[in-house]
Amino acid sequence: MAKVLCVLYDDPIEGYPSEYARDGLPVLTKYPDGQTHPTPNAIDFTPGHLLGSVSGELGLRRYLEGLGHELVVTSDKEGPDSEFERHLADAEVVISQPFWPAYLTAERIAKAANLKLAVTAGIGSDHVDLDAAIEHGVTVAEVTYSNSISVAEHVVMMILSLVRNYLPSHEWARNGGWNIADCVQRSYDLEGMNVGTVAAGRIGLAVLRRLAPFDVRLHYTDRHRLPSEIEQELGLTFHPSAQEMAPDCDVVTINAPLHPQTQGLFDDKLLSSMRRGAYLINTARGLIVDRDAVVRALESGQLAGYAGDVWYPQPAPADHPWRTMPHHGMTPHISGSTLSAQARYAAGSREILECYFAGAPIRDEYLIVDGGKLAGAGAHSYST
Ligand code: NDP
Repeated sequence: MAKVLCVLYDDPIEGYPSEYARDGLPVLTKYPDGQTHPTPNAIDFTPGHLLGSVSGELGLRRYLEGLGHELVVTSDKEGPDSEFERHLADAEVVISQPFWPAYLTAERIAKAANLKLAVTAGIGSDHVDLDAAIEHGVTVAEVTYSNSISVAEHVVMMILSLVRNYLPSHEWARNGGWNIADCVQRSYDLEGMNVGTVAAGRIGLAVLRRLAPFDVRLHYTDRHRLPSEIEQELGLTFHPSAQEMAPDCDVVTINAPLHPQTQGLFDDKLLSSMRRGAYLINTARGLIVDRDAVVRALESGQLAGYAGDVWYPQPAPADHPWRTMPHHGMTPHISGSTLSAQARYAAGSREILECYFAGAPIRDEYLIVDGGKLAGAGAHSYST
């Protein structure tokens, strides 16, 4: 019987919720490209409940224990004495969410002699050393598309929040003020601006589609060009690289995976090539930008705002400079963990486990590494 080790974020500080703001979720069955939502044989949770925290257990306990497997759920993931490291030694399956990543480094994979499967409950498996997974024959799978639209909605919210100076204005209202000039001295319309995405995959394209009605000029760069019908429909300008796109944009949103080609992409050089007063939104991964270069660009006014929800490491330390830099709209890593997204990636994790334990193939679109090489979605979007 297998040990399944699941690393999840902590419950709310006031305890696991007994009631929710809304009753249920809209019923959706397909993603925009026609891919079906996860199709496990059954689920043992209520969609719309908190599943991504320790007590939510991704709704997996009944199913796994019913098969005789052991499920260990913990949020304790850092250092050699953590519960994660202690159980990793004999775990066959590790499940982790990018929001609270259990970093599966090469050293940890080398120590995990029984490890066969690493599941990302969500999207983005950069917390797993993919080269080490390839070398040790560990399958890596993620729940592709499960939270892409959740993130795209968040990106649109953050672009508008920065350009309209929403967060500081909200603070004036909370603090009893009516300081209109203080609020509007940094407030602009998005209409007419040039907005570009680095990557036009599931999230990037959904952002472009959602922004088109704002009458902006849309740009993108990607390793593969979108079909010309989509370029025409949305009026897209394609750029061969982020370096060629950035100088033409007032707003840039980053929607590429973190891999060797994208790590450190937004450094001092690229940031200084942007228009003065540009906005940068990063919900992809913290390491795609140079942490201190972003702080410098905000302090000098080269960037008018930076927002996102991804940091490195996660959780970010209390003294991380992004917590206190000017004109930022950072949150903890939340955009892909709405209650709506949790229902999808919990069901998708269950689907992956059902396939794994039945010896059936895991959907190609969920695979990142399999059979000692990049596979499925991973072969398309990642590099080693
Ligand atoms: P997709 O795989 O659908 O899209 C990724 C896109 O990035 C692909 O079109 C790929 O291009 C492109 N790409 C890869 N490398 C480069 C590069 N060097 N330059 C330009 N484009 C590149 O993934 P999603 O859109 O669903 O997710 C994207 C990323 O967003 C995830 O990998 C994850 O890191 C992050 N994410 C964040 C979440 C959050 O909660 N904040 C939640 C979910 C995802 P091509 O296919 O042409 O090779």
